Amino acid sequence: MSEVQDNLQDLYRDLILDHSRNPRHFGRLSDATHTADGINPLCGDKLRLYLRVDEQGRIESSSFEGSGCAISVASASLMTDTVTGLPVNQAESWFEEITQRLTSDAGASGPKTGLDKLRALDGVRAHPARVKCATLAWHALHSALENESTPATTE
Ligand code: ZN
Repeated sequence: MSEVQDNLQDLYRDLILDHSRNPRHFGRLSDATHTADGINPLCGDKLRLYLRVDEQGRIESSSFEGSGCAISVASASLMTDTVTGLPVNQAESWFEEITQRLTSDAGASGPKTGLDKLRALDGVRAHPARVKCATLAWHALHSALENESTPATTE
């Protein structure tokens, strides 16, 4: 592996560690318009996602609370960071892209995300059990936006 790739992997690992230790948007949103629970029974990750969507269909703010492994917390932190300020339909298309990207067998040649920081999650593709930790927050997002009443689960 080249030195450049090594550095990139370090960068991504640091980003995951940073977001898992200091999650952004952590806590309850009192005036949420959408909420959803996400459960990953395989690892024991649990989260509740809060969204406030304004009248123009834009995600005005988002937050999450819960507990789980470093990957699931970092992914929820990155996800809320990413979708805050986005129109709902754009957030939904990120959901499609991220879940496809992380679960596709195409690996690095699969769909490319335009969001650099979300590439930090690419490392989990080598560990199928961790993919569900990384996609949990995105499934909760999808479920919240769809107003589904049953908890999002990775199973
Ligand atoms: Zn996990």
